[in-house]
Amino acid sequence: MSNNNSTSAEIDYQKVISDLRSELGAVLKQPNPANKKLSQSRLRLAAIVALPTNVETEITLKEACKGTTRSFVIKDQTACTSCVNAKPINRLHCPECKGLGYTLNERQVEVSLDAGLSTGQEVRYPGLGANDIRSGKNGDLTVKIKVSEHPYFNIEGKNVTCTLRVSLYEATLGSEIEVPTANGKVIMTLQPLTQPGTVYRLRGLGIGGGDQLLTIEINMPQVLSPEQIRLFEKIRELADQPNSQGNLAYITSRN
Ligand SMILES: [Zn+2]
Repeated sequence: MSNNNSTSAEIDYQKVISDLRSELGAVLKQPNPANKKLSQSRLRLAAIVALPTNVETEITLKEACKGTTRSFVIKDQTACTSCVNAKPINRLHCPECKGLGYTLNERQVEVSLDAGLSTGQEVRYPGLGANDIRSGKNGDLTVKIKVSEHPYFNIEGKNVTCTLRVSLYEATLGSEIEVPTANGKVIMTLQPLTQPGTVYRLRGLGIGGGDQLLTIEINMPQVLSPEQIRLFEKIRELADQPNSQGNLAYITSRN
């Protein structure tokens, strides 16, 4: 099993076409009949590369982080037993295959998907694709990945982003806060005087070594008691004093 990016299938095809062209060019240039025969057999070998089987699957964020398995139904081309010995013209009337010369037999395949896959990635399993009757071989199975959307995480490649709302007091004084991540909950230190919109980068807590980017938003109090109002008024008085920056510095340095 190997992980490939989304262009790998095209690259392989280009190589096959390029190989065919060079083989064909070699055949056309051969004046010697013996060499021509040899090259034609090489040409046939190059031409019967089994076609790949391409499927897509959606996995959850948790599966992307932990790895998972998926089953697929593969349709193998199998020589039609009703008309295998018939002349090509008579095959057209074959009730089994309608002239195709093969029937499709279903086969279940289970594959494992490693941890760390992200949307758009393709995983290739050599020889696990459908049997291609022209080549007599099984092609590769290529699985294209989509990581499904999550209620509160956004997935950007291997990075995961989310917004966390904290109280005015936690943001002002700093706090230890519990943060949900794609890999489970972690405890993080919120710095004193954290501003709304501040982004914390939690390294390695995204998908497959990616990061989690946590944006902090601040919940303002919905209700204040008379005592709280009195204290906020006191804070406002202090903030209006010329040395208010000194007070802020005191709070910052306290932690
Ligand atoms: Zn048939």
